[in-house]
Amino acid sequence: MQPIPLDTKIEQRQPPSSAEGGAGGAGTLPNLYDFTLEELTDFIKQLGQPTYRAKQIWEWLYINFAQSFDEMTNLSKSLRETLKRSATLSTLTPVVTQHSSDEQTVKKLFQLPDGQLIETVLMGYEKRQTVCISTQAGCAMNCVFCATGQMGFYRNLTVGEIVAQVTHFCRELSDEDKRLTNIVMMGMGEPLHNYANTIAALDRITAENGINLGARKITISTVGLVPAIRNYADEQRQTPLAISLHAATDEERGKLLPINRRWKIADLMAACHYYIEQTGRRLTFEWALINGENDTIEQATALGALLEGMLCHVNLIPLNPTGGFDGGPSSRERVDDFQATLSEYGVSSTVRVRRGIDIQAGCGQLRDRAIAEAYQVKGSKIDFG
Ligand code: SAH
Repeated sequence: MQPIPLDTKIEQRQPPSSAEGGAGGAGTLPNLYDFTLEELTDFIKQLGQPTYRAKQIWEWLYINFAQSFDEMTNLSKSLRETLKRSATLSTLTPVVTQHSSDEQTVKKLFQLPDGQLIETVLMGYEKRQTVCISTQAGCAMNCVFCATGQMGFYRNLTVGEIVAQVTHFCRELSDEDKRLTNIVMMGMGEPLHNYANTIAALDRITAENGINLGARKITISTVGLVPAIRNYADEQRQTPLAISLHAATDEERGKLLPINRRWKIADLMAACHYYIEQTGRRLTFEWALINGENDTIEQATALGALLEGMLCHVNLIPLNPTGGFDGGPSSRERVDDFQATLSEYGVSSTVRVRRGIDIQAGCGQLRDRAIAEAYQVKGSKIDFG
C-alpha cells in the first residue's frame, strides 16, 4: 500500500475538549473494530482463550452488530469481563441525533475517544438504505464551498472508526427489520487522503464472513488526488469512484478547489482515463451547481467537450448552503440549460435530489454546530500554492 499521496506533511490537531474523552478513557484500549480476523485471533490467544472465540466475537461484531460485550451471550461471563477490561467495542459515542422533517434522513454526531467529532448520515429511500460515512475528522482539502473543508483537518479515522459508523447503522436498521444496501464515502474528509484505512475499511465492509456488502454498492468520492486515483486504478477494484470536478477550466476549478493548483484538470483527466482503461468501469463526476459561478453555458460547454465520448456520468447537485461560503444553488432553469448543453455532447447527467438540508446533512454540510463550537482550534489545511 502506498503512503498518503501528498508530499505535504499535515499536522494532526486535537479539539480542546479532548481531555474529557468520548468513551471514558477507551482510547487507550484496543478497539476490536480495528482488528482483522487474524489480529483478533492473536488478541484472543494472548488472553489465553481458544481461537474459536475470535470467530464468535467476529460474528457478534459484523453479523449481529453487538453494541456491548454483555450481548455476547455465547461467551462466558468471565471472558466478557476480561474483554471489557482489555478492549473497547463501541468507540463511537452518539452525541446528537437529528431527523429531517420528512423523517427520511438521520444525521448522527459521534464523539471519538480522544474527543474528535464526526458525522454520519443515513438516507432512507423506498428500496435503498444508504449510509454516508466519514473517513477523517475534518478535511485538509479546503474546498471553498464545503463546510468540512472550511473547518480544516484534525486527523485520519482508523479502520475501526470508519467501519463502526457502518455497523452502528446496520444495527439500527436491523432493529427495524431493514438492511443496509449502499454506502457512500462522501461524509467528512477526503477518503484517498486516508488511503490505507479507507481501503482496509472497504475490505472489511465487503468481507463475506461479515457485513458482506457488495463492493459495487459502495462509492468512494474523491476531490481528485491524482497519484491515489492511479494507485486505486491499479488495484482493479469493483468499488466505483466519483470525482469531484465542479469546474471544467483550471481558472474556475482553482478558485473553488485549491487542489487544482497541485494537479491541473489535464492531469486529473489523464488519471481518470487511466482508471477507465484499467478497470473498464464508468466514472461519475460530481458537480455542485453554484448560481452564476460554475453553472454557465461556457462551463457546461467546456465540460461537454472534456467528457465527450468518455465512459462516465455527471451528477449535478445544486449547491447546499454552508456558513463560510456566499454562493447559492442554481435555479431550476439554469440547471436544465446546463444539462441540455451536456446532452448535446452526449454526456449523460442526473440532477441529484437534495436530502436532509433542514438538518445540514446534505453534501458538504457536515460540520454540526456542536463541532464548530468544540473546535475552537482551527484545523490544519494544505497550502496548495
Ligand atoms: N472529499 C470527498 C468527499 C467529500 S463530500 C470529495 O471531495 O469528493 C462529497 C461531495 O459533496 C463532493 O463532490 C463535494 O465536492 C460535494 N460538496 C461539498 N460541499 C458541497 C456543497 N456545499 N453543496 C453541494 N455539494 C457539495
